[in-house]
Amino acid sequence: MPEDNFSVKLIAYVPNARNNAQRAECEKAQRDQQCPFCPSGSALNSLDDPVIFESDHWNVKKNAYPYPGVGVHLVIIPKAHITSVSELSDAAILELVHVVVPWAEKEFNLPGYGLVVRTNPAVTGGTIYHLHFQLVLAKVGETVNVPFGPRRE
Ligand SMILES: [Zn+2]
Repeated sequence: MPEDNFSVKLIAYVPNARNNAQRAECEKAQRDQQCPFCPSGSALNSLDDPVIFESDHWNVKKNAYPYPGVGVHLVIIPKAHITSVSELSDAAILELVHVVVPWAEKEFNLPGYGLVVRTNPAVTGGTIYHLHFQLVLAKVGETVNVPFGPRRE
């Protein structure tokens, strides 16, 4: 399994955690050197917050730590432990565009959405070094602010 063969030391970027629960999850992931976004990882095997869609190359779940004001907030995670869009296979890209996003559009009856890519969390404001997309739709009348860049206290 590819998730067992990576040698990445940076798993989670704790300073960007948005609350104590996320901070604890990030600290544990970094300490245990277990990527929560890999298929065997804690985020994808949470009984309280399960994967809601799976394809050959992707897992999709609701964001466990949604941004304020969101109506829909999904995390779309490649099964491969990769850290950049440039590492996605052609098959994964095609599946994202032609299977995963269309599923989300239909499942949540989306009139539109924002699609954010998180790579290196230390510079993008995310928490997990495993590449992921965040699909965000604000509640009617709300504005969702997606942080980019390191979190400041
Ligand atoms: Zn991973």
